[in-house]
Amino acid sequence: MRLLVVEDELNIATAMEKILKKDGYAVDVALTGREAEDLMVINEYDLILLDIRLPDTDGFTILSKLREVSETVRVIIVSANREIDDRIKGLDLGANDYIVKPFDVQELRARIRALLRRNFVVKPNIIKIEEMEIDLTSHRVSYQNRELILTMKEYSILVYLAENKGKSISAEELYNHIWNEDSNPFTSVMRVHIYSLRKKLSNVTGRDDIITNVKGLGYSLNLD
Ligand code: CA
Repeated sequence: MRLLVVEDELNIATAMEKILKKDGYAVDVALTGREAEDLMVINEYDLILLDIRLPDTDGFTILSKLREVSETVRVIIVSANREIDDRIKGLDLGANDYIVKPFDVQELRARIRALLRRNFVVKPNIIKIEEMEIDLTSHRVSYQNRELILTMKEYSILVYLAENKGKSISAEELYNHIWNEDSNPFTSVMRVHIYSLRKKLSNVTGRDDIITNVKGLGYSLNLD
């Protein structure tokens, strides 16, 4: 899952980036509205954390423009405590949720998880497909109760494929949702992660076909 943090206060932006990267998200940061708009044109985000008061523009303008092109990207307004009108206006403009500064880190993480949960029915924060369980809070993955020890990138790939179960995900889409702006733009890097993820999956399941790659279509998760 790829997230954009739009926040002009560098210390808050950096703290958010650090926390969210720890949760396995690919995170980009925009310190101005201009930067945010540029990044949103280039990249496809799953969720955007949007500060309202920005030096060059405001979050409402960004949100309105964004909603003209995308109804699916999740947006959380991040507003100062006193600005209740901002939150109402933000929700009216199509934000999915809001959080008040100073926010509690656990609350922020939970709100993001809640918004990103989709397309599958689960116990809260557990994706269960056949005999595989992915715990989105602790990042533990198991198959028939045997734990898989995954790197953060392997974990992120698996979660993205699990959340898009039944669909083929192109290398480009996968790359777009798992890696952030600073990373090396080579899909060969991704193939290495997929190779090692497949190997680990094969070790616990005895199957080599959990992640299939259909030429021209992309990767998909196959646990049936
Ligand atoms: Ca601000």
